[in-house]
Amino acid sequence: EKQRWAPILGAGTRDTAGATIFDSILDGKIPADVVYEDELVLAFRDIAPVAPTHVLLIPKRRDGLTQLQRATAEHKHVLGHMLAVAVPAIVAKDGLDSYRLVVNDGAQACQSVFHLHMHIIGGKALTWPPG
Ligand code: 5GP
Repeated sequence: EKQRWAPILGAGTRDTAGATIFDSILDGKIPADVVYEDELVLAFRDIAPVAPTHVLLIPKRRDGLTQLQRATAEHKHVLGHMLAVAVPAIVAKDGLDSYRLVVNDGAQACQSVFHLHMHIIGGKALTWPPG
């Protein structure tokens, strides 16, 4: 069952880059299986999971963070929040003691959605290196 949450209209679009599918999720126009939410971030299960746990963690306000290489000192709080608050909560929820955190930064690195997101992947033995 897809979960509903209180959408924040226009949450992801506070910059001049084009809207993405994640804006539709943030706006509640597309359902998502939400696993974590707080005032700054939303996390939901990937529609095409590569492992038993495959969660996407995004800032609600994109604020120029179309990709990690756009980060400035102004983004320190949300980036730190993602790493130090949201990721641990998601990992604990799925009971993971090992996981991989992935940011595909740029098209050649397989970034397809230009709204910063962290992939949290786990729940099985993973291989290394990635391709
Ligand atoms: P990227 O390739 O940009 O690093 O990751 C984008 C991810 O978004 C992909 O893993 C893809 O499966 C996922 N994705 C694309 N569209 C949707 C959607 O509508 N819903 C969900 N839950 N995930 C999506």
